[in-house]
Amino acid sequence: PNNSEEVINEYDEEALMGMGSEPIVLANPEACENCKGAQCEIACPLGAITRDELGRPSIDREKCANDGYCIKACEFGALADKSQFVPLIKLLKQNTHKVYASVAPAFAGQFGPEVTAGKLRSALLKLGFSEMVETALYADLITIKEAFEYDEHVKDKHDFLITSCCCPIWIKLIENKFPDLMSHISPSVSPMVASGRVIKELEPDAKVVFIGPCVAKKSEAQLPDLKGAIDFVLTFQELETIFAAADINPAEEADEENPVASWGGRLYGRTGGVSAAVGTTLEKLIPRRAEKFNPVKVDGIPDCTKLLENIRAGRLEANFIEGMACKGGCVGGPGRLIPPEQGTE
Ligand code: SF4
Repeated sequence: PNNSEEVINEYDEEALMGMGSEPIVLANPEACENCKGAQCEIACPLGAITRDELGRPSIDREKCANDGYCIKACEFGALADKSQFVPLIKLLKQNTHKVYASVAPAFAGQFGPEVTAGKLRSALLKLGFSEMVETALYADLITIKEAFEYDEHVKDKHDFLITSCCCPIWIKLIENKFPDLMSHISPSVSPMVASGRVIKELEPDAKVVFIGPCVAKKSEAQLPDLKGAIDFVLTFQELETIFAAADINPAEEADEENPVASWGGRLYGRTGGVSAAVGTTLEKLIPRRAEKFNPVKVDGIPDCTKLLENIRAGRLEANFIEGMACKGGCVGGPGRLIPPEQGTE
């Protein structure tokens, strides 16, 4: 993040403890070029990077939340997320299971402005995947669920619902720093987990690979109560590398028909998308509740923290709370390929 120094000062480094218990972000000190700008150290919002006298990074596991900002900041590859390339490619080659790709809503524009869901699907099928679905389809299911949860939980002006939909860092922040607000969190799982569970309900032997801009999703997929829904998590950067190695250019692939998601599901890639989708769903399904729907959205860990402090202090009027750790939402995630402002809807 551009304001990372401010982040370090403002942010309580204990807030996300636990997200890093499965080491996903790894240091590769040999690749360090001692940039002197200490970009990795500056980029970490939690103070989890320390550097030796040669500038080489190491990671304090107690503080690391596996958010992956340090990876994005280092141009030399001295930090990387744990890759699942080898077992995944083995699985694709073995041809023993149907392998689904569940592609995050933030895919738009990532592989080139002309790469539609259909072209991406063709490229993934060429790589060996059996099928591609948009995670946004499952976001649509979660939207409907959260609209009904809102109806059930928000009864008077003091009630509010905190969305659980997307961001594991947002949830971990609340668990660790604001446990008194936990009872307000929606019980819904993320669209990523929903996609894996639905696909495996229909095809128990299938494997599901989530592909998105997020490093923290690798941790989410391993959380004890969610484990088993998703078998592998790839970032867009990793997928781009695999396409390059296999000499596949999604822009040149056929625009195959793909099961489409709705406008609302695709909005999940940006901050405010969940609120917009739930608001529209309330208008359609429970119109008597729509007019009192009063959402607030926030992104970036420091602003998320401030918002939660305001809620705790009773200084907030909103009744639907949406937080995303990355600026702009998932389109700003550390595993993205393009800046958030270049993404298309
Ligand atoms: Fe991951 Fe960032 Fe999206 Fe949160 S906002 S789910 S950390 S990409």
